[in-house]
Amino acid sequence: MIKSLSVLGATGSIGVQALEVARLHNLDVVALTTNTRIDLLENQIREFKPKYAAVADEKAAAELKIKVGDTGTKILSGKEGVKECAALGTEAVLNGIVGIAGLEPTIAAINAGSKIALANKETLVAGGNLVTGLAKEKNVPILPVDSEHSAIFQSLQGCPEHSQIKKLILTASGGPFYGKTKEELKNVSLEAALNHPNWAMGAKITIDSATMMNKGLELIEAAWLFDMTPDKIDILVHRQSVVHSLVEYSDNSVIAQLGVPDMRIPIQYALTYPDRFISPVKELDLAEYATLTFDRPDYDTFKCINYCRKALEKGGLYPAAVNAANEKANELFRKGKIGFWDIPDSVEKALESTINSGTYTLDDVLLTDREIRKQTEAMWS
Ligand code: NDP
Ligand code: MG
Repeated sequence: MIKSLSVLGATGSIGVQALEVARLHNLDVVALTTNTRIDLLENQIREFKPKYAAVADEKAAAELKIKVGDTGTKILSGKEGVKECAALGTEAVLNGIVGIAGLEPTIAAINAGSKIALANKETLVAGGNLVTGLAKEKNVPILPVDSEHSAIFQSLQGCPEHSQIKKLILTASGGPFYGKTKEELKNVSLEAALNHPNWAMGAKITIDSATMMNKGLELIEAAWLFDMTPDKIDILVHRQSVVHSLVEYSDNSVIAQLGVPDMRIPIQYALTYPDRFISPVKELDLAEYATLTFDRPDYDTFKCINYCRKALEKGGLYPAAVNAANEKANELFRKGKIGFWDIPDSVEKALESTINSGTYTLDDVLLTDREIRKQTEAMWS
């Protein structure tokens, strides 16, 4: 098992659970980062005594410096500070930052040669080609934390040849609005959209689950992680979130990973792979569930999945564009500025924009991200 770890986005849902795993296995936590939540970060600094901590927000960083002046932790600030924490060369870097803000820190961590435990799916959605190419070049493994991708990764253990994989099947809980019609969801409230049936997560991904954009983002993430074309990735609605995803092989044998819905299993596996250790997670008792159900997604109502599939087919910067439109629209919905169905409309507009569909650099990704955010904002003001 790894001994030293940096946790980016330590104050978020994934970050806090990663620190529970670190606590259980006595890992040396070398760096922690946050955006603004310095009260929680202060407690984490006092418990884990990292060498470094970074706060993306400059004002909050200055406040934290004063609060933890009595500790030995060096406080860094801004985007650069977060990147510095990613680039320390610790054995592993767990990236639990939300959104495109996670992309550059992932790249910094790969360049420093750290193993990447990746929760920040936007890293692969927006910068798939760049990030996987760099990881290959530096011989750095990217271990998925996203539960579906961890399930696929686990189901692929022992697969001798990539060509023997016929298809990947991502499961989806269906979110809070499964079975509802477009009309029924027209005036849906933020509160209802934030009420996920199976998972307690950060606000952005919870809204992504309600629109099912999350499954579209995961489709793109899976394509990059496992080198699969979009036509070889299927989606199944599975309400209980017990079967976390499946791999179908050329002989039509299907292998899946199961467990109670708890992110500490995939987080821990990304840190301990290929070994397994005791975990704080409850045993799976299938008899408690009695019935597991599977169904096809309602693609006509939840259009984001197909928009992401199309973005992946178009290639180049299209996935970065749909990601940017979604991030902005998701934020506007959470601020009460647009309606629920304005989110997929924003994503569709990005898909219809004229964008480079060839090779790209990091600067191209960041520029597309900024431009599509502006376009999305202008669409609704
Ligand atoms: P949260 O919103 O709970 O946490 C996000 C973390 O990132 C916080 O520490 C936050 O700081 C920090 N952050 C936010 N914006 C910035 C920024 N601009 N620069 C630097 N740091 C920033 O998100 P989640 O933990 O739910 O999700 C994290 C990632 O993991 C997402 O990509 C999500 O899709 C993915 N994921 C999450 C799952 C879950 O169960 N939560 C499951 C599978 C994937 P602050 O606390 O100050 O806001
Ligand atoms: Mg997931």
